[in-house]
Amino acid sequence: MKPPLFDYVPATSVAEAIEARGRYGSTAVLAGGQSLIPALNLHLAFPDALIDISRIAGLKTLRVEAGAVRVGAMVRARELELSPQAHAANPLLREVLRHVAHVPIRNRGTVCGSLAHADAAAEMPAVLVALGGHVRVEGPDGAREVAADDLFQFHMTTSLGPQDIVTEAVFPALAKGAGYGFEELARRRGDYALAGVCAVVTRAGGAAAQVAACGIAERPVRLAAVEAALAGSDLSDGAIAEAAAEAAQYVTNEDDGTGGAYRRRLAVALTRRALARAAARAA
Ligand SMILES: Cc1cc2nc3c(=O)[nH]c(=O)nc-3n(C[C@H](O)[C@H](O)[C@H](O)COP(=O)(O)OP(=O)(O)OC[C@H]3O[C@@H](n4cnc5c(N)ncnc54)[C@H](O)[C@@H]3O)c2cc1C
Repeated sequence: MKPPLFDYVPATSVAEAIEARGRYGSTAVLAGGQSLIPALNLHLAFPDALIDISRIAGLKTLRVEAGAVRVGAMVRARELELSPQAHAANPLLREVLRHVAHVPIRNRGTVCGSLAHADAAAEMPAVLVALGGHVRVEGPDGAREVAADDLFQFHMTTSLGPQDIVTEAVFPALAKGAGYGFEELARRRGDYALAGVCAVVTRAGGAAAQVAACGIAERPVRLAAVEAALAGSDLSDGAIAEAAAEAAQYVTNEDDGTGGAYRRRLAVALTRRALARAAARAA
């Protein structure tokens, strides 16, 4: 199918992109185009204009600074996946990115585009939630930081305003000695996950975990009850299994042909495996 007609605006600065977004009734930001272009071709989106941010040089920066991996809006998923500096600071990112679509899609798709698109089954939003990261946003009223928890509202719905541009995603580095794990199940390799769980576990000063899931609800969710159950435990198989059982209560996406029963069992199993892997890696 051919896409609907739209204006095309190649922005050369973030200010120009924000201004252009204000000039039209509805706009979409063209970053890697890996979600937007299929949506246009399938007539699922009808923006009046596409604001192309891919030529804005300032958005192509990937750096590890101030205890975080800072990913500019035009950094492609594959670039982050292959970055030795990012991997040294936070190896969870590479582990998760290998599950995002396929290499040709990761070569073009951006990390910030995935966060702004906010598919409830997408992996990177869940990682941002698990790590307690944030995005930097610029809009008509200036720049601000939006915490992951405040960004994702519903499937493909964020708290971003109509003129906002995500300029950077900030993923905190892992603490020294922290273990990490990611587990997902998708129908085919590269598909969006039926469910996915990422976990970070530390042992120093008593066990603690940060756990979040994608695909199980209308947005990525932090599994706070799992974290609470694991806190201060001995991280034995029994303690991990007991904590993982708490994941079932977060499943609200029931379109699995079993009224959610399958996804609940899956969420528990994936949480157990992600925690076990993270605990085994924790020093
Ligand atoms: C076959 C296939 C399989 C896929 N499988 C997966 C998968 O398993 N897991 C997964 O997570 N993703 C998957 N994807 C999606 C892919 O990861 C996309 O690249 C990503 O979701 C969007 O990034 P993008 O840069 O391509 O964004 P675009 O397609 O350019 O934009 C997507 C949306 O985000 C908005 N947007 C983009 N950048 C910004 C910004 N800086 N500020 C404000 N708004 C912005 C746009 O307005 C648009 O609405 C798949 C895609 C395909 C085609």
